[in-house]
Amino acid sequence: MNPGYTFTHHGAVDGVTGSCHQLTLSDGQSVLVDCGLFQGAETSVDGANVDRLAIDFSVEKVRALVVTHVHIDHVGRIPYLLSAGFRGPIICSQASATLLPLVLEDALKVGVTRDQALIDRFLAQVGRQIVAVPYKQWRSVIGDELRVKLAPAGHILGSAWVEFELGQGRNKHRIVFSGDLGAPYTPLLPAPRSPYGADVVVLESTYGDAVHESRKDRRRRLQALCERAFGNKGCVLIPAFSIGRTQELLYELEEIIHRNRSRPAAPGVNWDDLDIVIDSPLAADFTAGYAQLREHWDKEARRKLAAGRHPLAFEQLTTIDDHALHLQTVEYLARTARPAIVIAASGMCSGGRIVNYLKAMLGDARHDVLFVGYQAAGTPGRDIQKYGPKGGYAYLDGKRIDIRAGIHTLGGYSAHADQNDLLNFIGRMRHKPEQVRLVHGDAGAKQALAAVIRQRHPGMDVVVPRG
Ligand SMILES: [Zn+2]
Repeated sequence: MNPGYTFTHHGAVDGVTGSCHQLTLSDGQSVLVDCGLFQGAETSVDGANVDRLAIDFSVEKVRALVVTHVHIDHVGRIPYLLSAGFRGPIICSQASATLLPLVLEDALKVGVTRDQALIDRFLAQVGRQIVAVPYKQWRSVIGDELRVKLAPAGHILGSAWVEFELGQGRNKHRIVFSGDLGAPYTPLLPAPRSPYGADVVVLESTYGDAVHESRKDRRRRLQALCERAFGNKGCVLIPAFSIGRTQELLYELEEIIHRNRSRPAAPGVNWDDLDIVIDSPLAADFTAGYAQLREHWDKEARRKLAAGRHPLAFEQLTTIDDHALHLQTVEYLARTARPAIVIAASGMCSGGRIVNYLKAMLGDARHDVLFVGYQAAGTPGRDIQKYGPKGGYAYLDGKRIDIRAGIHTLGGYSAHADQNDLLNFIGRMRHKPEQVRLVHGDAGAKQALAAVIRQRHPGMDVVVPRG
């Protein structure tokens, strides 16, 4: 029985960005799950997009915002929510509460203002509204009417799926929002477990039509690719997102170095002599945050710590904060072609420090670029990925650069569950939902996932909400 609530999906309906879902009770009070930025060409039903950021619905009766995790496409519109007048609690996990101010500060600096006083005032307001909730504990959201509980989602540190409970006694009704779910073997993070039961599940479907390769294969390919790249000297440039993937890559590189101590990565270069450079203040801050929040790491990562290893702060790792030092490093590595791995944002090469590296090295065959993340249409990253292997060119800062560096793509470094994981999330529930609503996926991914869920669970109502 549906006790008279409704869903409104303000984002991540026709695509994967701008996540913002509203659960409205029969008396008009509501909660939001996430409030993210749209990216690339994606928009909301009412036309909010990467340029039109204002909140396009009333927040008067919104009693709380629950944050599943701190990726920008899930939290990036919080400043606009606050400026629309929202003063309710921002409920999130303890690790997210630590990381959220870092993300929002960066988002404000990049997209809104450089005025530090204004930023500080905003962050103080956010600080007053954040309510950190431990995993697996119920907390009241709207009096006796609505309670919420978070559980680990294994996607990035602090990520959670969210369970709401409406009503009392026999009339209890449960609704689960998956947020972004991780793959079971995501480095550092414990695998997500399914809810015990729910009446309705709002499920992400980013990789609803795909199955990832195993983590072991992926690590082997990362190693082989680096070894091949170092064969002709030079850098391996990895454009990466600051949160999640950078830390996963570091974790995997530490493992590769540990397994291959004193073995050559290429003639004349040993794995343990290689420099690994994180050239991004935000990625460095997040890596420090990840390192600090080790009580949330999985068993494997904690075992490494106990054995004296430092998966996110190992010896070969250098972080660059200062801009002058960044420019020096670009110049030095471009000139000497000393083998090194450089991780820098942005992930799609549309800005950030990676652009300086690319401008200096893309035209030089001794260097290599390794893509580990999705490259959206219209970004320099997509052009380099697509035209680089054919000897094409790309534009960076308005300048045409002929691509001579090696260009590689390593798939599978996704912090998302694949089709099997998504099916397991539903299939392992003791009390299966009556309804599953698929969001956060492209049309093809949602259709494919809907078809297999219907096949496995005849009678389950699988809904693909439309924008
Ligand atoms: Zn995410």
